[in-house]
Amino acid sequence: MILPKSSRLAPEQEAEVTAIVAEFGCKIQPIIGAVRTIYAILGDERDELMINRLEGLDYIDRIDRIQSPFKLMDRRSDLANGRLTLGGVTLGKELFVIAGQCTIDPKNPNFFYETAQAVKEAGAQMLRGGVWKPRTNPYTFQGDTKSLDILMEGSRRTGLPVDTEVMEEEHIKLALDAGVTLLQVGARNALNYSLLRAIGRALGTRTDRAVLLKRSIHMGAVNEFISAAEYIAAFGNPNIILCPRGTSPGLDGYRNHPDESITPLLKEKTWAAVVVDPSHSVGKASYVPACALAAVAYGADGLCIESHVNPSHGIGDDPKQALTPEVLHKTIRQAKQLWSVRRGDGA
Ligand code: PEP
Ligand code: MN
Repeated sequence: MILPKSSRLAPEQEAEVTAIVAEFGCKIQPIIGAVRTIYAILGDERDELMINRLEGLDYIDRIDRIQSPFKLMDRRSDLANGRLTLGGVTLGKELFVIAGQCTIDPKNPNFFYETAQAVKEAGAQMLRGGVWKPRTNPYTFQGDTKSLDILMEGSRRTGLPVDTEVMEEEHIKLALDAGVTLLQVGARNALNYSLLRAIGRALGTRTDRAVLLKRSIHMGAVNEFISAAEYIAAFGNPNIILCPRGTSPGLDGYRNHPDESITPLLKEKTWAAVVVDPSHSVGKASYVPACALAAVAYGADGLCIESHVNPSHGIGDDPKQALTPEVLHKTIRQAKQLWSVRRGDGA
């Protein structure tokens, strides 16, 4: 919909607009109101270049798009028909919980194996463990490819499928070949379009693997987040999970600005499952359970929570953020109760 600055377009302006939209196979239809005339774009109005050219005209106030700018992530797309099943859980049918260490310590694999067993007993259906780590400080531990074996051993010992972050194209192949089920794109890479494309291409239409896309620290509009997912969906794979994890700058006292509240917006605009990461949202173990419950109240399909059998002996975020297995267990139990209340079948 084209909204001119004046009450209607002058004839030469209307001719110019008509010529521009015609280049993109569209037409305009004036809608004459009592005080103002606006112009509907007839045809596929999603071409960015057409919109930019119209918005660049000094007599145009703004363009309101009726069609969604993301063709595949949109609720009306054909990809909306699929249902994602991971770790025996069909997302949307019951609460899905991913839990485990922020970072696997290759020098202490037993911690990871104990954590894996503990998160399983606490009720998690998928195990997380950071192999490669995007660190703000280049001198801190950056992860180690050796940890991929430890991750997969944790998976074998517990029978849980695993999630790990991939930061480079090379990691995608290593992780898929090793048997990682869920490839995580971290907040720092959520705007790395070549990595997103590479993941989409590598997954193809495989139904046994999926992607968890974190919201970038720097993403503003929700549409920017969904458009990033569109890069992955472009290769035809509907196994995409959107993961709000807090944005920057943080809310005073929290590591980030918790953003679980965008869950209903995401659900209205897209078909993708939403799994919220409360650990990075608030950044401190004592705040994580409240954020996890808030996410469930907002309609999240699942949670991704950092947990460690002995947080103070962990590395990466674990000393600060990781829940002990006891607190994880209680959080999952309460989150499941809240899930039932939300669905109207609880006490
Ligand atoms: C992580 O999951 O440990 C991580 C680094 O997350 P994020 O990309 O959200 O910071
Ligand atoms: Mn972390």
